[in-house]
Amino acid sequence: MSFKVAIIGRPNVGKSTLFNRLAGRKLALVDDTPGVTRDRRIHPAKLYDIVFDVIDTAGFEDAPASTLPGRMRQQTEIAIREADLIFFLMDAKAGLMPDDRTFAEVVRRSGKPVVLVANKAEARGAQGGMLEAWELGLGEPVPISAEHGQGMPDLRDAVIAALGEERVFGEDDEADDEIAISEVLIGEDIADPDAEDVPAYDEAKPLRIAVVGRPNAGKSTLINALIGEERLLTGPEAGITRDSISVDWDWRGRQIKLFDTAGMRRKAKVQEKLEKLSVTDGLRAMRFAEVVIIVLDATIPFEKQDLQIADLIIREGRAPVIAFNKWDLIDHPQEVLADLREKTERLLPQARGIQAVTVSAETGRGLDKLMDAVVRTHKVWNSRVSTGKLNRWLEGILAHHPPPAVAGRRLKIKYVTQAKTRPPGFVVSCSRPDALPQSYVRYLVNSLRESFDMPGVPIRMALRTSD
Ligand code: GDP
Ligand code: GDP
Repeated sequence: MSFKVAIIGRPNVGKSTLFNRLAGRKLALVDDTPGVTRDRRIHPAKLYDIVFDVIDTAGFEDAPASTLPGRMRQQTEIAIREADLIFFLMDAKAGLMPDDRTFAEVVRRSGKPVVLVANKAEARGAQGGMLEAWELGLGEPVPISAEHGQGMPDLRDAVIAALGEERVFGEDDEADDEIAISEVLIGEDIADPDAEDVPAYDEAKPLRIAVVGRPNAGKSTLINALIGEERLLTGPEAGITRDSISVDWDWRGRQIKLFDTAGMRRKAKVQEKLEKLSVTDGLRAMRFAEVVIIVLDATIPFEKQDLQIADLIIREGRAPVIAFNKWDLIDHPQEVLADLREKTERLLPQARGIQAVTVSAETGRGLDKLMDAVVRTHKVWNSRVSTGKLNRWLEGILAHHPPPAVAGRRLKIKYVTQAKTRPPGFVVSCSRPDALPQSYVRYLVNSLRESFDMPGVPIRMALRTSD
């Protein structure tokens, strides 16, 4: 069974780019030939294990300028009518535009399931735009970069969340009526954590982790030790393919889903490709994960590549946990540990308080502590602070450490609210966001982190103009 997806959004948000990615670049290039586009409007598309059809809305903008708006709207409406699911694209780099609201309104009125996609999320300053996307009332934005192929695993998950597993994977065509429409309310709920129906932290859901790190840090050994099944990881004939991407197991009653990493595959690959492969593949697995275990070789910790990997994980908004591996080889553990802790705080200030655990994958020591840290970090990453508490916190801040005056004018901060979790994201309403110094924003983030006990996870803050 297949379902149809329409990619909707104002011009220039990246619809064609996403279309090309989903439908396969070659196919789309062929279809760029004049005259072909309009005839072949439905293209097979793939997002990992999800197979569907994507409705081609490219080429609408080719219409004569005078009739452009009318025609675009008409074509958009046709595409929406045909679709089972809508990808509503906005441009996180540019931020929310009036046209986005117009298109969003058309989509909302259709009553079709929607996945709100914040494209160009890799761009500088996209964070603010992404938080603005909440205002559309179409639910939680999924940050992607259509151009660079980032965020696709989240898009996959969002499709399943919007349509349900059965509709996405099932054979049953009759599931149509049961589709839950994820609509307007979601955004409002989350913008106000005091509201009812906010999902609590769900212990029953599998906790998704990935293990990343430099070659030879001990990833495969660690995964083996955690899962306790040697058979998974031996040699090239083990039957581990690109498609077998996750392993489930149970840790003290907690369901864990481990996403495949380079460590599980690298042994099957030729030696000279090793480095490149393990980093890219590991990072790919990382995007499926909530918590990412960064394995460092404690005998040679914090090499440049280690830091690059950690930085990327934090930028991608995952919850990081550091495993200092090969601890059995360390001679003066107390001293080394103190040194490593100091380095961790200094080198990774973006996630101050990051959990770091010493382990020996080979002997199995420290694995319980590691998994404790994973669960703890996952909780923090999911944390939610009520608007009431946030604004009482803000009052204290404004009383004791108000924002500086810029060019003789006081900056005013009106209020703060948590717009998202996983990782925590906050919106601060401010009289002149562009004038608020970065150092002050960092101060706010650090104070939030301390006041509400959110160590070791990325925290995002967007500034919005208050009236
Ligand atoms: P459409 O009009 O909505 O179909 O948008 P296009 O796909 O033609 O993209 C508009 C512009 O945005 C092009 O210059 C793309 O290269 C650019 N673009 C698309 N996706 C991304 C992205 O993920 N990141 C960045 N930085 N630019 C993108
Ligand atoms: P990967 O490339 O990150 O998957 O690393 P491997 O798991 O293949 O491990 C690289 C090497 O380090 C192997 O020779 C392992 O036996 C060794 N190793 C892994 N973990 C430990 C550990 O905790 N202690 C010691 N002494 N050696 C380890």
